Amino acid sequence: MLNIIIIFILGTAVGSFLNVLIDRLPKGEKITGRSHCDYCKRKLRWYDLIPVASFFILKRKCRYCKKKLSLQYPVIEMLTGAIFLLIFNFQTISLLAIVCCLIVIFFSDLKYHLISDYILLALFVFSFFYHLTTNFNLSQLISIYFLSGIIVALPIFLIYFFSRERAMGLGDVYLTAIISFLLGWQMGFLALYIAFVTGAIVGLILIVLHRKKIKSRIAFGPFVVIGTIIMLFWGERIFEIIKKIYGF
Ligand SMILES: [Zn+2]
Repeated sequence: MLNIIIIFILGTAVGSFLNVLIDRLPKGEKITGRSHCDYCKRKLRWYDLIPVASFFILKRKCRYCKKKLSLQYPVIEMLTGAIFLLIFNFQTISLLAIVCCLIVIFFSDLKYHLISDYILLALFVFSFFYHLTTNFNLSQLISIYFLSGIIVALPIFLIYFFSRERAMGLGDVYLTAIISFLLGWQMGFLALYIAFVTGAIVGLILIVLHRKKIKSRIAFGPFVVIGTIIMLFWGERIFEIIKKIYGF
């Protein structure tokens, strides 16, 4: 039920922006900047711009000049909300959000060797939502997935701890914990394995090409992201292949 409400509200917010486009694009106006009343041109406050709700709270009248507001606004907002409900589902949204976080982590770690705590927190929250949409079982979520995060991140934590942050950063520890919370411990370990293998290959190539010295640091986060994406989209199939090979 909460999913439905959130998707509808998201849709009405987008619908509110569509209203802006509908009226401003044909007139060649800038699409940024606060909305104003069509009649008295007074700038509207945020509480006058809440999709659908403001229209009814204001009883269809401008707060300032009391002129009647067009039905276009709530109709298009509700229409967009309804279309969002029909097309979108919460799982798709959380998956999109997860992939967006992974893109940010990949490139900021590559460029600055840093993973922001905020993006890690966002990744965790969206992973949590993703679990809620696939199987809403809170005890299972806590027992299996939280434990998975701790177990898979443990070796990374040990590397971080004993290398005194030289080989791994705390960001790598958190990232590994969160992607294993997302994937579960089996896929988490496989993602980590892919990260180490691809990292080693890229590292060797860079050393051979004299782009890096043996002692220089290569960010680990991007490789964890690669492993995560592979397991997220092809994990089931990879598991089938492994099962066949080892016959369990
Ligand atoms: Zn007005």
